[in-house]
Amino acid sequence: METMRYSRILLKLSGEALAGEQRFGIEPEAIGQFAKEIAQVATTGLQVALVIGGGNIFRGMAASAKGMERAQADYMGMLATVMNALAVQDALEKNGCSTRVMTAFSMAEVAEPYIRRRAIRHLEKGRVVICAAGTGNPYFTTDSAATLRALELKCDAIFKATKVDGVYDKDPLKFPDAVRYDTVTYMETLEKRLGVMDSTAITMARDNNLPIIVFNLYEEGNIRKAASGENIGTTVQG
Ligand code: UDP
Repeated sequence: METMRYSRILLKLSGEALAGEQRFGIEPEAIGQFAKEIAQVATTGLQVALVIGGGNIFRGMAASAKGMERAQADYMGMLATVMNALAVQDALEKNGCSTRVMTAFSMAEVAEPYIRRRAIRHLEKGRVVICAAGTGNPYFTTDSAATLRALELKCDAIFKATKVDGVYDKDPLKFPDAVRYDTVTYMETLEKRLGVMDSTAITMARDNNLPIIVFNLYEEGNIRKAASGENIGTTVQG
């Protein structure tokens, strides 16, 4: 069996990963692709916690810019992450993976409430723990939720799976001469606004020395490669 560099990771997926080509809502086929990979890495003994965004359905800040009360809109965004979590749970279970969805605020008929010790127990038993509803608080993002959960669940690293293959000095989709970093410091990420994660999330990772591995979700095998320590993207560290 392949040896993994990490024993427990927190994988952060943006809501848009679930939308596929349609760019909005939930496309089961798009989820199927990465669910297969997550299920595979979980069989190697790697413990996986997931945080999923909600931007494919609803973003609080965008709605508040159009006049909605911010906290109200943020709760709607958090509810969107619960829908995504249930969709990913379904796809993981179709791949034979044992899972639990745990929500930051109580929705006991739908999923377990998030209780740190219980989440750790699930991970130890080899279940993929899907942390839904963000931090449970408005004015935060699921990037911050990912950092928070990674720290309290004692994950070795955050895997930030995105649509680009790492962190660049400028937007690689706009500038063909953009250069990818192998490693970059938290401070540089913040100062140059490299857009890895929001500043709250980066600051929390920096203060607690939690590495963030940024890589392309859409290249097959990347989750496994990142877990085995292959140099496939950018590592944000101290
Ligand atoms: N959200 C929140 N608190 C949290 C996490 C998320 O209020 O702790 C809300 C916020 O409105 C956000 C939305 O949920 O816009 C969806 O999350 P996010 O934008 O982080 O999703 P992603 O960009 O990763 O798809």
